[in-house]
Amino acid sequence: MKLREFYDTARSMESTAAMPVLFAGHGSPMNAIENNEFTRGWQAMVAGIPRPAAILCISAHWETRGILVTSMSTPRTIHDFGGFPQELYEVQYPAPGSPELASEIHHLLESTSVGMDDQWGLDHGSWSVIRKMYPDASIPVVQLSIDYRLNPREHYDLAKGLASLRGKGVLIIGSGNMVHNLRLVDWKNTDKGYDWADEANALFKGLILRNEHQKLADYLTLGAAVRQSVPTPEHFLPLLYALAMQSEKDEVSFFNDRTLMGSLSMTSVKISPIT
Ligand code: ZN
Repeated sequence: MKLREFYDTARSMESTAAMPVLFAGHGSPMNAIENNEFTRGWQAMVAGIPRPAAILCISAHWETRGILVTSMSTPRTIHDFGGFPQELYEVQYPAPGSPELASEIHHLLESTSVGMDDQWGLDHGSWSVIRKMYPDASIPVVQLSIDYRLNPREHYDLAKGLASLRGKGVLIIGSGNMVHNLRLVDWKNTDKGYDWADEANALFKGLILRNEHQKLADYLTLGAAVRQSVPTPEHFLPLLYALAMQSEKDEVSFFNDRTLMGSLSMTSVKISPIT
């Protein structure tokens, strides 16, 4: 095979193979500037997958009335947190946007009328993770908002409409935390989770491995440990977005699988074609 043919074949294979889908536990914004087990976990994860043509992130930190997609060509870096060191506020992640991908998402979700947004940008649920994965900031990033009026099943169903983007080289990342109860964070015992956090984390993982997505969408019926672990939906919903894009040709694995600070879990999910 001539070199040119080889590259053509490689390129066509690349465009047809489905990209993985990730759920990333993002945790503290400090992960954006630290080098720790979680940031190394993100880096190891992307080292083993094809380089995406673009990234679509569903972040826990962008809740809106109606669904919006960022459509600007140069999204700003939003420092949507308080009380952290100045160094963190100085971080910029100058990845381009992609008006083309935004418009494609608008068409894919036609029945739900996605609004084109030119005000938001990249919030820390998105850039604190993606900056570590792709430090050169050369891959376009688009965010899709979470419509706070929808119930978990409605989020799951609408996310299915985005699955075809996987075949176009788009890496879809749901960014949240499966266990996320900031009110009960244990600042003294930062390396461990409470028993109920571990219980909920294990229960979620079991349901994910058994593809019991509807039970996960109905998480409020899963008992006291889960209700304590998911007091508000926004950090859990990005998991449902990721799971909705899983097909029967995928396998599921976990990374950064750990609870910490009592009431947080960094457990992350990789959904990728079976090799
Ligand atoms: Zn968060």
